[in-house]
Amino acid sequence: MKYAIIADIHGNLDAFQVVLEDIRAQNATHIVCLGDVVGYNAQPKECLKIVRDMNIPCVKGNHDDLCSTNNELEGFNPHAADAVHWTRAQLDEEEKAWLRDLKYTRMAANFTMVHATLDAPDKWQYVFDKLAAAASFPYQNTQMCFFGHTHVPVAFMRDTVVRGGTYSKFKVDSSKKYFINVGAVGQPRDNNPKSAYVIYDMDAQTIELRRLDYDIESAQRKIREAGLPERLAERLAYGR
Ligand code: ZN
Repeated sequence: MKYAIIADIHGNLDAFQVVLEDIRAQNATHIVCLGDVVGYNAQPKECLKIVRDMNIPCVKGNHDDLCSTNNELEGFNPHAADAVHWTRAQLDEEEKAWLRDLKYTRMAANFTMVHATLDAPDKWQYVFDKLAAAASFPYQNTQMCFFGHTHVPVAFMRDTVVRGGTYSKFKVDSSKKYFINVGAVGQPRDNNPKSAYVIYDMDAQTIELRRLDYDIESAQRKIREAGLPERLAERLAYGR
């Protein structure tokens, strides 16, 4: 079985379609989504419809949460807050109810899915380093867990200590635990504008990070036409 693990689509249909094409070309048999289907980019409804029509198992991200409720936007930067307000106005009640019903964590095959961290999945903490990863590992009951939220692909591995770093493709060691960020489909932030997702080949026991060019100018044009903040269009070109 080959799983495609996607995260942080963020309403970027141009990127999502290219990722879906690549998933088919890679002969992946299953797809799962680590949350943040909506927020930031201009096509949240279209992306949400695809996830739902394809029955892609999904966990809740902070933007899925914020865009489907009327919660206060504490600590949000103004661009992100503008995007949340805009997205709230696009989604209908039925779509919001679907997003609100998403779980914080769930299992697929033999692995765990979470948007942010396992120690406090509803607190939306960011795992950028080994210390933060070390806090999540004790709550991980499966060998593999995939997460998103930072939009920065990085893999952490625990045996006696926690190690971590960037990756492109590696073989899984069955004696170790892994906490793997699959990067973002719709708004990469590792200074690489290419859309990101992971193929987990369960037979070969390999993890492969896929990076794909997509029509960034088209996504930017839609952001501008929607009246979303210019900064959200610009950042797609830089991948940050
Ligand atoms: Zn996100």
